[in-house]
Amino acid sequence: MTDYVFPPAAPASVAVAGTAQRFPVHRIYCIGLNYIDHIREMGLDPEAVQPVFFMKPADAVVANGAAIAYPLSTANFHYEIELVVAMAGGGRDLAPKDALAHVFGYAAGNDLTRRDLQQAAKERGQPWDTAKGFDNSAPVGAIRPAAQGHVSRGRIWLEVNGERRQESDISQMVWDVAHVIASLSKLYELKAGDLIFTGTPSGVGALKPGDRLEGGIEGLEVLRNTIAPPARDRR
Ligand code: MN
Repeated sequence: MTDYVFPPAAPASVAVAGTAQRFPVHRIYCIGLNYIDHIREMGLDPEAVQPVFFMKPADAVVANGAAIAYPLSTANFHYEIELVVAMAGGGRDLAPKDALAHVFGYAAGNDLTRRDLQQAAKERGQPWDTAKGFDNSAPVGAIRPAAQGHVSRGRIWLEVNGERRQESDISQMVWDVAHVIASLSKLYELKAGDLIFTGTPSGVGALKPGDRLEGGIEGLEVLRNTIAPPARDRR
C-alpha cells in the first residue's frame, strides 16, 4: 500500500445503463468544430477550419439530474449537446477501421462553455482551459454499452425550458466517431476510462439560473440538468 500524505480522491465516474456498475473516468477529451452548421454559426469558414481538440479535467463530470451552479467569471454561459464516446481501451496511432473496437459505449453529454472567456482567448491566442475545463462543465448521461450498437446516425437535440434550441443528426459530424478516435490517438495514448466529447451542432446559446436543460441522442438516456444560482464560498 502506498503511504499517501492524505487519502486520494475516488475516481470520477459515470453511470452505465442497465447496471449498478460505474464507468471510472480517466480523461475527458473534446473535439470542437465538428458540425458544419456550428462552424458557420461561430463565424468560421467550414472549408478553412479543421476540428480542434481540448480537454476537461476528469472530475468535471456531472451526474444526470444534478443541479449545476452558474459558474463564476462569466456572463455568457453556454450549453453544447454532444455525443460522448466512452473508451474501453485504446492505444496510439489507431487506424479508423480499428478504432470502434476500443469503444465501451455511448452517452449524451453537455460541453458547458464560458463563451465570453473562449472568445477572449481566441482573440488573444490564449488557451481555452478556463473557458472549457472548469468545475462541473461536463454533464454526462448513462453510458449505453457498444454491445447494443455503435452510433453513426440518429437525432441529437437540446431543449431549454421546453424550447428546442439544437437539433441535428449524428451523421452530420465532419469527423465520425472512428475518425475522431483515430485522430486523437495520434496526439495522446488513449486508455480505458477516457471520455471523448465529439462536438456540437448549431444552436448554441446562453443559460441563466433557473433554466431547465433537456437533451439527448436517439437511443441513449436523456440528459436533464438545471442551472442553479452561483455558488460563492463564504470569506
Ligand atoms: Mn463542444
